[in-house]
Amino acid sequence: MPQRQQNVNAAQWSSNGALGASDLTEPNASQFGDNVFSVTVQRQRLPKHTFNALQAALAEGSALDPVLADTVAQAMREWAMEKGATHYCHWFQPLTNLTAEKHDGFFEPNGNGGALAEFSGKELIQGEPDASSFPSGGLRATFEARGYTAWDPTSPAVVMDNPNGALLVIPTAFVSWTGDALDHKIPLLRSMDALSTAAVKALELLGEGEAERVFTTIGPEQEYFLIDEQYYFERPDLYTSGRTLFGAEPPKGQELDEHYFGSIPERVLAYMMEVENELMKLGIPIKTRHNEVAPAQYEIAPIFENSNISSDHQQLTMQVLQNVARRYGMVCLLHEKPFKGLNGSGKHNNWSMGTDTGKNLLSPGDTPDTNAQFLFFCAAVIKAVKKHQGLLRASIANVGQDHRLGANEAPPAIISIFLGKELENAFEMVATGKGTALKKGVLNLGTDVLPTLPRDGGDRNRTSPFAFTGNRFEFRAVGSSMSLGFVNTVLNTITAESLNELSTDLAKELKSNKGDVFKAVAAIVKSVWEADSEIVFDGDGYSDAWQKEAKKRGLLNLPTTPDALPWIVEKQTVDSFKKWKVLSKRELESRYEVFVEQYSSKLNIEAETTATMARTMILPAAMRHAEIIDDAGESAGLSKLAEEITGITDGLIEAIFALEKANDHDGPDGGVKHATYMRDTVIPAMSAVRGYADRLERIVANDLWPIPKYSEMLFIK
Ligand code: ADP
Ligand code: MG
Repeated sequence: MPQRQQNVNAAQWSSNGALGASDLTEPNASQFGDNVFSVTVQRQRLPKHTFNALQAALAEGSALDPVLADTVAQAMREWAMEKGATHYCHWFQPLTNLTAEKHDGFFEPNGNGGALAEFSGKELIQGEPDASSFPSGGLRATFEARGYTAWDPTSPAVVMDNPNGALLVIPTAFVSWTGDALDHKIPLLRSMDALSTAAVKALELLGEGEAERVFTTIGPEQEYFLIDEQYYFERPDLYTSGRTLFGAEPPKGQELDEHYFGSIPERVLAYMMEVENELMKLGIPIKTRHNEVAPAQYEIAPIFENSNISSDHQQLTMQVLQNVARRYGMVCLLHEKPFKGLNGSGKHNNWSMGTDTGKNLLSPGDTPDTNAQFLFFCAAVIKAVKKHQGLLRASIANVGQDHRLGANEAPPAIISIFLGKELENAFEMVATGKGTALKKGVLNLGTDVLPTLPRDGGDRNRTSPFAFTGNRFEFRAVGSSMSLGFVNTVLNTITAESLNELSTDLAKELKSNKGDVFKAVAAIVKSVWEADSEIVFDGDGYSDAWQKEAKKRGLLNLPTTPDALPWIVEKQTVDSFKKWKVLSKRELESRYEVFVEQYSSKLNIEAETTATMARTMILPAAMRHAEIIDDAGESAGLSKLAEEITGITDGLIEAIFALEKANDHDGPDGGVKHATYMRDTVIPAMSAVRGYADRLERIVANDLWPIPKYSEMLFIK
């Protein structure tokens, strides 16, 4: 079948047998948390004293008595086996943004030719994978293979279903034999501890002594693309690098604004419902779904949870999104920029701090200008973001993000904070002692049949990388493929540091203001506002004017990954992370090395894929097309066409040779120098190849073009 016919036929998708396979409309079809070893299940299945001891250990953040672990393990195994599980795995998060798992069966031979189901407390608590092949950034050599996984009892174990059986998934941390954190979970947990300590101390000074622990919370909004799997498998660029390395801009893109919040295509909605059903079973509180801006782009968002659980749940969500797509004949793309010229995908990291007594510390209330506690915590965030803007930028840097950040749709590569009119005014008032509070007001819609609406104190700002959105900050610049671990480790640690510093100041101010909390906080707000308010910006972050203005304000502009990553090992980063015992210098250096290496390796894969596709797919198509012109006879018009195709083909050939040469070159030593070389030499060489190829796509006979075109991938649903 000619290629193009085949591509159009893909529109007549079949559901791979999945659609309607499980009747989601049946009552009880989706029981929230059905596959979670939850507190309720634990209460039912554990002896009372074991249950109480486990809960107490969790509440205090202390270790579980190993004797009790056997009992917990046995209950967990029995429960999982009733759900169809035959195996368990210690599930962890190496520094790849992905998860890792090694499955072990429950059954062991009983010596009489039969088998016995076994799962001990020791197996629950500790695992020892051969860990030599995970990125460690110099924390260990390959011959030093020893690493341990350690059960994280604060994140519930779940059973993941598979058509042929089920798996007990136990969230774990991953550490080297030397005790260095090799994963994203350990530092995240440490940073949550750090923030809690600093926040509880601040709350005491503020006269809010009842909280014993403060949790950070995350509600991540995940953007993704869905395309027909047939197109995906016809594109080596997509299945090796996750993004299209070729593709002429289609006549129609996203300019009509008709996709965003549009009605969801039936096949896609069926898919979303099944995804949500799977996630519900895993206890992931999915709440929101909608079409995103680019054609074929969508979003899924849960209700927020504490950072550790949310981060684990986010990894599971990415996995389920990808798995379920295949049942519907589609592939879910999580890359930050799968399609040139269209919006990329982010993962908006809604972040806040809340007490164990249920109070959100970033909730401004009706009168933020008199809310001492809110002003204090918000001021701490402003100070932290200002000081560590380079590190925050680094925490969201990767090769995919370089196509997105600073482009005309995603937040700029300059970190700034959007507070909104009401809050900015409140801070001004408190800092200067002048001004009046803004009225909240109402919106009158001009007809009596519609209700009047209360109007929010501030508008929203899509162009800000770090925006206040009512009762939380939304770090909008996080990339869609990223783990939440590192970026939230950074947010928590830098906020812990500034809370602690401001608390020291607050204690002094309280003394000099005779214990008047509001006066003392006002003095703190004044000093933060004077020192750090340059980081606050409520204008258009996409505009050129902001680039100039930011420069004037002395803010960092770090457009690419190699510019940003060195902030991970800056002295001020090392000092803060050491002080708060979140990551040692060695551990920071290892992350820096791993991230730099990933950048260069991914570009290398892209470059090789570009060259191979150009040589073995696109060039032959161009030559066949030239033959057709040749065979068509002679005329002035045909000569023109022949000249045109020869010109572009020659250009392509030269560009391929240049790319192969550029990528072959090892570049100046490893590390960030090599990454910079890849950025400055290999990326332009790839773009040159793509430039010729995309021109060819527009002139080569449609039935000869070897890869699906943008319009097919984006509009055939
Ligand atoms: P938007 O209108 O910004 O697209 P969504 O409804 O898609 O908003 O997502 C907002 C996210 O913010 C949700 O995941 C929500 O649970 C989360 N969120 C709300 N309050 C908090 C909080 N206190 N801490 C963290 N996340 C929160
Ligand atoms: Mg949203």
